[in-house]
Amino acid sequence: MRVLLLGGTAEARALAARLHPDFDIVSSLAGRVPDPALPVGSVRIGGFGGVPGLRNWLGDNNITAVVDATHPFAATITAHAAQACRELGMPYMVLHRPPWDDDGAIRVRSDTEAAEVIAAKGYSRVFLTTGRSGTAAFRDSDAWFLIRVVTAPEPAALPRNHHLLSSRGPYRYDDEHALLEDYRIEALVTKNSGGEMTRAKLDAARNLGVDVVMIQRPELPAGLAVVESVSDAAEWVLRQPG
Ligand code: NAP
Repeated sequence: MRVLLLGGTAEARALAARLHPDFDIVSSLAGRVPDPALPVGSVRIGGFGGVPGLRNWLGDNNITAVVDATHPFAATITAHAAQACRELGMPYMVLHRPPWDDDGAIRVRSDTEAAEVIAAKGYSRVFLTTGRSGTAAFRDSDAWFLIRVVTAPEPAALPRNHHLLSSRGPYRYDDEHALLEDYRIEALVTKNSGGEMTRAKLDAARNLGVDVVMIQRPELPAGLAVVESVSDAAEWVLRQPG
């Protein structure tokens, strides 16, 4: 058995650590961030070239199963991997951590809808944590934004009034609480990423009465095997033939 582990998440690194060296695993990263946290074992970096490129890569590298532990918002790679595996008749499983409880949050379906809510509610000081590709929708907003990203967006994709914070989680409750207070934040905009590394901002927002605008996850393609924990993903790999 040789498994392709699509990664770029803490869960993918934890799964690689769980399976290595007993299983033959190749982890794959998109190559978006400089100096990424690397999983143990063998790693390849960069896109495959769509569904045909991925199908060829799987064949050329004698892969027998694919575990997709990419971020819940990385919908394109998941759609591609699901299709390539379906076409090849290859076992494929998605590991997605459970979403955060969004009770009390304003639920939206996209960055664009979140920007509409910010305008409609008239928030003037907003904490934006939707990532490098999630700032462009707010470009024309009149609000002021505290924007936290791993790598800075292009200047053209930034709102007029903002302050950029470059950092990478995990984040602690006390620090998130202080950040929201110091910058006098009225609303937090976040994707429903789930996981412990970045959830402290939600607890801090809730306790400070800061409104939360939560972008819902894209839907997974129908009919996939999905698990929510690293242990369940490891068990799935153990069950594969070979
Ligand atoms: P995406 O929109 O779903 O994927 C865009 C393209 O990037 C894919 O078509 C594929 O290129 C390539 N790609 C994505 N993940 C890959 C992987 N693990 N290995 C090889 N190629 C990959 O993905 P995204 O939202 O830009 O996220 C990119 C990576 O960052 C993912 O691996 C994800 O786990 C991680 N990440 C994403 C987020 C987020 O909020 N989206 C947050 C944290 C981490 P080809 O078509 O050329 O194969």
